[in-house]
Amino acid sequence: MKITPNLYLDYLKCPKLLKSNILNDKIYEDNIYDNDLKSIFKELFKDDNKYSFDLEFNYDTLFTKIDLIKKHNEEIDLIIIADSTSVRKSFIYKMNFSMYVLSVLGYKVSKCFVWHINKKYVLDEVLDIDEICIKKDITKDVLKMSYNIHKQIENIKKAKLSRKKVNIGEFCYKFKECHLMPDCMSHIPKNSIFSLSRVSRKDKFSLYKQNIISFKDLENYPSLKDSQKLQINSELHNEIIINKEKIKEFLDDISFPIYYIDFEAYQEPIPRFNDFKSYEQVPFSYSIHIEYENGEIIHKEFISDINANPKESLAIAINDDIKDEGTYIAYNIDFEKYVLRELSSYSEELNEKIININERFIDLAKLFKHYHYYLPSMEGSHSIKKVLPAIFPDDEHYASLNLVQSGYDAMNSYLLLKNIKDKKKQKEIITALKAYCEMDTFSMIRIIKHLREIIRITSNG
Ligand code: SF4
Repeated sequence: MKITPNLYLDYLKCPKLLKSNILNDKIYEDNIYDNDLKSIFKELFKDDNKYSFDLEFNYDTLFTKIDLIKKHNEEIDLIIIADSTSVRKSFIYKMNFSMYVLSVLGYKVSKCFVWHINKKYVLDEVLDIDEICIKKDITKDVLKMSYNIHKQIENIKKAKLSRKKVNIGEFCYKFKECHLMPDCMSHIPKNSIFSLSRVSRKDKFSLYKQNIISFKDLENYPSLKDSQKLQINSELHNEIIINKEKIKEFLDDISFPIYYIDFEAYQEPIPRFNDFKSYEQVPFSYSIHIEYENGEIIHKEFISDINANPKESLAIAINDDIKDEGTYIAYNIDFEKYVLRELSSYSEELNEKIININERFIDLAKLFKHYHYYLPSMEGSHSIKKVLPAIFPDDEHYASLNLVQSGYDAMNSYLLLKNIKDKKKQKEIITALKAYCEMDTFSMIRIIKHLREIIRITSNG
């Protein structure tokens, strides 16, 4: 067995992971950003022989790799270069492991550092590496936990053979959610405390330990919120919740033309455009469906060129596509409102429109969040990805899309465009991005039509 820093983290989380068939022998996780902190330092230090990047070390079955080593006299500093905005606990554990490997190999480690992104950084013309990078000395934290590392490594070797049973718990989310969750939770029934909305993870596992797991166990549980009672009741008795009054109120607030609007955004550690912040949510595309009273529907869409300032391009394009009229609808409105606010600073005319539009901006997700319309197959979620298949169970929805099926896919695909020279591949990605964004707004039209139909049927009945 190859023992790496990642495997060491797995052991600290749960010995059961060591027995899994998918041992995490990757020394590092993959990086999705091409313009990251480490690449910048590599370029900066390329002629300085005090610094060495990505050196690998091994002793017996132990393997590690260090992002950056700084040599001074007989000693060395170990440096993790991370695109995170803080020192994660996992960095301290990984550094502890690496430091152990290097000490048994006879190296004298002086200090350990994490160099990470300053989340408050704003690009001002030229990248200031001293401003964007925070260099945190973690030596004391690493030393504090180094006293029993030898014993822990011996335990890792034994844990592979151990027959001890491990039950799920909050620790399954330590460092990051465990990839074996679906397997380890296979004994949990479909309608359980784990799918009950508005319960903290801590409370879920506390109830699980008390053997209060299924909705049946929870049915008469005291101190449930009204929305939770509704969810349990609906799922246990397979009942649809229709709050006709609230749905009607929602629909009555809408006036034509209706603008269904959705933005996609990316985040990256090193901002590329002036006044952009590290990890700022940068909108790069939108889809708008406009529904007129006579039933006509028009679709507008835009995706910014990867090399252009996306906020500026979006502001110019959207100014032509939106008018100060009718009602605006988004799904989870906060993000769309944030984007419009950001774009408004690029033009006086757009700013004025946005101020007026904001007064007539409606959140479609609210209906589902408040259980005014609920189907048992929504399983306590008001995400559009859960609501849509619950309402239209026979359609494929997002699964029918190629390449881009989630906001995360959209961000990665857009950022990939920077490095793709093949025009055909570029076009394929852009088409997939547009299709994904269009699906979001078109889905809202379908949901609104469905709600109108519900009101029509229930009023006639
Ligand atoms: S899901 Fe939890 S119990 Fe299962 S292997 Fe992962 S950490 Fe261990």
